[in-house]
Amino acid sequence: MNKKIFLCGFHQETASFNPNPSTIEDYTGYIYQATGEELIAVNRGKNTLLGGMIDVAEESGYTVCGSANMCAHSGGPVQHEVVDIYLKQVLSDLKAALPVDAVLVFLHGATQSDVSDDVCGDVLTAIREVVGEDTVVSAGCDLHANVTERMMRAADYITGYQTYPHLDMCNTGKRAAMLAIRKLQGKPTCMAWTTVPQTAPAHGYTTTAGGLKTLMEKGFAMVERGEIIDFSIYQVQPWLDSCVSGSAVVVAAETEEKAKAVAAEFAAEEFALREELQGPKLWTMAETVQAAVDNTVDKPVVLVDSADSPGAGSTGDSATVLEYLLPHRDTMRAAVAVSDTAAVEKAYALGVGGKADFMLGGALSPTLSSPVEVKDCVVKSLHDGKFMLEGPASRGAEADMGKAAVLQAGQLLILVCGNCNNCKDPQFYRSVGIEPTLCRLVSVKACTSFRAAYEPISALICNTITPGAAGVELKILPFTHIPAPFYPFQETSADQIGAPQILRK
Ligand SMILES: [Zn+2]
Repeated sequence: MNKKIFLCGFHQETASFNPNPSTIEDYTGYIYQATGEELIAVNRGKNTLLGGMIDVAEESGYTVCGSANMCAHSGGPVQHEVVDIYLKQVLSDLKAALPVDAVLVFLHGATQSDVSDDVCGDVLTAIREVVGEDTVVSAGCDLHANVTERMMRAADYITGYQTYPHLDMCNTGKRAAMLAIRKLQGKPTCMAWTTVPQTAPAHGYTTTAGGLKTLMEKGFAMVERGEIIDFSIYQVQPWLDSCVSGSAVVVAAETEEKAKAVAAEFAAEEFALREELQGPKLWTMAETVQAAVDNTVDKPVVLVDSADSPGAGSTGDSATVLEYLLPHRDTMRAAVAVSDTAAVEKAYALGVGGKADFMLGGALSPTLSSPVEVKDCVVKSLHDGKFMLEGPASRGAEADMGKAAVLQAGQLLILVCGNCNNCKDPQFYRSVGIEPTLCRLVSVKACTSFRAAYEPISALICNTITPGAAGVELKILPFTHIPAPFYPFQETSADQIGAPQILRK
């Protein structure tokens, strides 16, 4: 019989405090491979998670087939109709493809809808119900996944990115496929899962430095030595207000005892890092602006407005930073971006050289930030918003900020556009003629991904307390669903780490 592996994907990272639901248009307008044929054609040979899955499946002699891959940008909870549309199609395609040896699923892992806190658990459970107990189900997720018991009961294996900023999507897909194929080959592969009741703001850590890097390197060395087969150490999406299970640790080894022992060891080390992961000093907006005023180095101060990072699920439409810059408008060259389509249209109507007062920002999520009035703005330039990323993760990829305009208010350069999704990349400003290195202050709506490009060209990077759905001070956000105790909301102790479990034999 022909050996066959089925692939599908559903991806969105939910920021619960973003009041705008993610709709079907957010999926069809971003990444939407409507059929299995399209999924395979688009991802085969590509540096994507599904590309890695296809690679390993085909190299191991399996034919691949599949169903839709739907991805939306990070944002508010997904409308449940979208999940319904997705499941209806995937389950029908899966039934038509049966029998299959394995199902490989690309998920974010931290997806909430307006009716479910655990959409990824729902998707995996629905797939399991169709294929029965004997087919292998393996998922590849983000490092920020909320890996729940429900997910672990439905899937044989769940792997997560081992890098942050995320660079190993393809490899994560390969690992998920490799584990599934090991099981199909009858090799012993036990997966243990546990969770640590803690979270940390995404700006607080990376895998390129500090304790999390050391912990990941320990895991890589154990895989290298053949002590374990695979491991994932998750940092649960911090702006997910759901019945989160915590930051999960998942370890695959040849024996249950080994998988459980290493999962317990990694979980204890993850627990010990809880304070460090909260990140460096936070600056107030006034302090960051003052640092730019006082800066004598010939490089800019970067104001990290991560609370309004679209990458973390916020709306990108906060203009609050401008309020703090306005007193310096005639003396300090600074670059700020705001997602505001009404302001773009007004700038287009005025034309280059036109002058007017603008109310900027606060339109997409008025509960998170208020509009800011900037008087006497001159329309400096108008743009179609298409540009190319310099990377490093997506070097050369095409990006689109929507129709855009640069407004000049004294020395302030204000980029108004359709979306700030790629504010992390210096080309976001450069493509519209704003050179970050010639500014005293550059505002960036991103958590961590901006560092690779910005660190070498800045005098100082200030993680700043700003308003937004991805607020950096987790303790002041209106969480209501997270179980207690959960760090940093409460103190926790080592005995609150769950005992590692093997949920599927
Ligand atoms: Zn992530």
